[in-house]
Amino acid sequence: MKKVGIISVPYDENSSFEKGPAKAPNAILDYFANGSLNKGTENGHLLKINENVHILPTVNICRPDEFFSQLEASISDSLSNGYHLLSLGGDHSITFPIVSAYHKIYPNLTIVHFDAHSDLYHEFKGNRYSNACPFARIMESGLAARLHQYGIRTMTEHQWQQANKFNVDVNEMKDWPSAILEIKGPIYISIDIDAIDPAFAPGVSHREPGGLTSRDIINFIHALPNNVVGIDIVEFNPDKDIDDITLNLSTKLVKESLGKLLESI
Ligand code: MN
Ligand code: MN
Repeated sequence: MKKVGIISVPYDENSSFEKGPAKAPNAILDYFANGSLNKGTENGHLLKINENVHILPTVNICRPDEFFSQLEASISDSLSNGYHLLSLGGDHSITFPIVSAYHKIYPNLTIVHFDAHSDLYHEFKGNRYSNACPFARIMESGLAARLHQYGIRTMTEHQWQQANKFNVDVNEMKDWPSAILEIKGPIYISIDIDAIDPAFAPGVSHREPGGLTSRDIINFIHALPNNVVGIDIVEFNPDKDIDDITLNLSTKLVKESLGKLLESI
């Protein structure tokens, strides 16, 4: 029997511009608990901590140089204990070690990635593990059978070369709405909060206007097949937020993500 777990990853050492996302998991879990949002999801699940949703131990940094292997080991541990995970970042670099752990159990994973940026840089400012690079690492390591990206609005020539090299399905925001694909097999969803328009989500390090609405992303997640084995929500930066508007949306996305994971069990 599968279970649904939330795992906090308060890590932002690979933020290429501004730090702050390490503060997100605590902020979101506090907001989730404070009662301003109810615990019902739009797809009909009632979220009950310690019953259908479990809060797993936070992955704290013990040794910075070994953080990725430490995170991968924690995720592997939870997966082998039967959890489908919602991971709360943190900057987007954490998706690479998380997906590395998933790949061992789900070798034909399809990734659905929401982001303003394709995060396909071979390296960024000299860092191959920058938050601008996780999907280059994932694809060159063969960790996903297919990568579908949505919300993208910052492509460069280099990133198109990378996208072509790895056969990435880049769905640019200028072409929204994108058709929902028939995806066979297990799905992993990676949500960079900056996929959403900064009018709805100003609390990010890289505000890029012209993005998804709150409704767009929620409906898109609901419409995916109920075969979602993992989700991450990354790059919410509480230091950049205005009156908790992004905190509120991030927590709503946590609710709907948990509903999707429960529906997928
Ligand atoms: Mn981004
Ligand atoms: Mn990103």
